[in-house]
Amino acid sequence: MHRAAVCLILLASLLPLSGSGSAAELNIEDFRFDGPLGSEGARIEKLDASHFRVTLSHAPTHPDWANNCQFEIVRHAKGSPLRLDVKFDHPKPQFAFDEYFHSWSYDGRQWQPIQWERRSNGKENRLLFPPFEQDRVLFGLQVPMSYEDAAEMLDAWAEHPHAALHDFGRSLEGRKLLRLEITDPESPHPREKRWVHYFANQHPGEHNSQWRMVGMIQWLLSDRGADCRRRSICHFILMMSPDAPSKGWYRVNRQGVDMNRSYRVEGADPQSQAHEAYLAQKDLEGLMASSAPVTDIWSMHTWGGMVDPILTPGPEIGALLGPKEQFREILSKQDPNRLIKPLQFSEDRGATTWSGGPGRQFKITAVLCEGAGAIFTKEQNVESGECLIRAIAEYYSGTRR
Ligand SMILES: [Zn+2]
Repeated sequence: MHRAAVCLILLASLLPLSGSGSAAELNIEDFRFDGPLGSEGARIEKLDASHFRVTLSHAPTHPDWANNCQFEIVRHAKGSPLRLDVKFDHPKPQFAFDEYFHSWSYDGRQWQPIQWERRSNGKENRLLFPPFEQDRVLFGLQVPMSYEDAAEMLDAWAEHPHAALHDFGRSLEGRKLLRLEITDPESPHPREKRWVHYFANQHPGEHNSQWRMVGMIQWLLSDRGADCRRRSICHFILMMSPDAPSKGWYRVNRQGVDMNRSYRVEGADPQSQAHEAYLAQKDLEGLMASSAPVTDIWSMHTWGGMVDPILTPGPEIGALLGPKEQFREILSKQDPNRLIKPLQFSEDRGATTWSGGPGRQFKITAVLCEGAGAIFTKEQNVESGECLIRAIAEYYSGTRR
């Protein structure tokens, strides 16, 4: 190439950033839908200077299930307020992409909530962002958590001498399936005498429930959790469908299976279960066959309102431990800011759910832990998890007797 031509190209590439001092205009090339927080198949159009329209695609095998609206603006975000129209072309969407608040962030750590302009209808809605002060912006559902975020936190927690990371396989796209175990190996109580609590997230888009678990883990690994670490073993699966955050799948895995309709009471079976659910159930069955089987299993979700736990009692409730109403009182006492609704009780739920299935298979306490769609910050979701684990630590007093 001629030297002058090279100079001109160089000059042209520098111009938008220099001279007048005004920032380059945001364009559709600046949006990325296939990053760690993504939305598979989403399309974007530019309608005006800072006005765009995103058309969402759908989950594998479910034309009526919109993918979550998630993206990264990789450059040029700084400047005039972004107006974003979002739509989903289906006559009767099964789940509304605009049911919950979303959040945006410059660094993926500090998140700002943003609400839809209209009431949810699952078909079209609009967001008006405040003027961005930086050029790179991340955006996602609830308080988002990418697989990479989760992996980084899990690696950091695993450095603690009382934490261990168990790798129980790979997702269909090759991501690690990880279970974090927290207990004090030096405890005077033998493992078979400790309470064993198990917490897992099934619906990958229900990110607030993942931040709830982060709050539980942080408390357990702090000085305040030392007594609980001696008396119990806590297992956490932050993501049972780790391929989902980069695709924007709200409830499913790559096969399009609803991850909370994926349990098999008759026993784990690779032929009839979603791939990741099969591996998780097989891992759980391994724990149940060990000398320290799970006492209580918590299926961690998000729906509207505050955190909403619904417990189906197993044999220790009211027998080895106080009456179930005592658990409710303790939970209320441990939650001064009322982030959690009063504990409810129910008969067991559907056999294919992760709250109903394990309860039937193993006759253990099972909890459907819902809610927190109205908790708009990472900090408060983390706080709700702290309240929950403090209550569990208090109600599950002493050790298994
Ligand atoms: Zn759910």
